[in-house]
Amino acid sequence: MQDLANLYYLQQARLEKKKLEKQQKKLLEDEKLKNRKEELDKLEEEHHQGRENLNNLQRELKKLEDMAAKLQRQRQDYEKRMYDGQPSSKELEQLQKKITHVQKEEVAAEEKLLQNMMEIDEEKEKEEKMAEKLKDLRQLYEEARKEREEKCAEIERKLEEAEKQINKYNGKIDEKLYKKYESIAEKAGGVGIVDIKEGVCGGCQVTLSAVVMEKVKGGKGIVTCESCGRILFSLEDEV
Ligand SMILES: [Zn+2]
Repeated sequence: MQDLANLYYLQQARLEKKKLEKQQKKLLEDEKLKNRKEELDKLEEEHHQGRENLNNLQRELKKLEDMAAKLQRQRQDYEKRMYDGQPSSKELEQLQKKITHVQKEEVAAEEKLLQNMMEIDEEKEKEEKMAEKLKDLRQLYEEARKEREEKCAEIERKLEEAEKQINKYNGKIDEKLYKKYESIAEKAGGVGIVDIKEGVCGGCQVTLSAVVMEKVKGGKGIVTCESCGRILFSLEDEV
């Protein structure tokens, strides 16, 4: 009987290991998490590009402001020469022309400056919205990643446990019984030994005959299910 129990627990540990390995593989191939990471990377890139644009616009703004200041100084210089320099009427006419010309340039520069400032505002607004979205997305990704990590650790722990169980029972089962078990398990989807629950075979769910039940209770030899051929083992007797 002890051999049957050992065999049963060995099989359970192996099945558990298989199941855990499947779960582990699925977790590592998690498409949802992969997609979320891709989405995050894409947005990070867009955000980076947006900041670049903003920096360029701000550099441009500095240049335009310098240009406006330069034009203003130029105009003031002409005006000074006009009023303080006692120019001849010909010089006066030329200065007037120059001033008119600079004023036109100043208007154009002012327009450019306003346009640039509007673009900066737009870009800033876009950047803020994107930063907000990015924050949310990062958080979602982090949570999903952490959840997976925890699940992986849990599986790892259970796998170790299953491995320990396997090592505990492996090689400690009567050779004849083990060979018989192996040949049954091979044909029955890796499950060669099943427990009986309330007179029902744990493998095929068929109600076992009184004769079979008697044999199991008697504990003599290997008893198999008449329907599915698996070795029968009663957990209840163990208790
Ligand atoms: Zn059966």
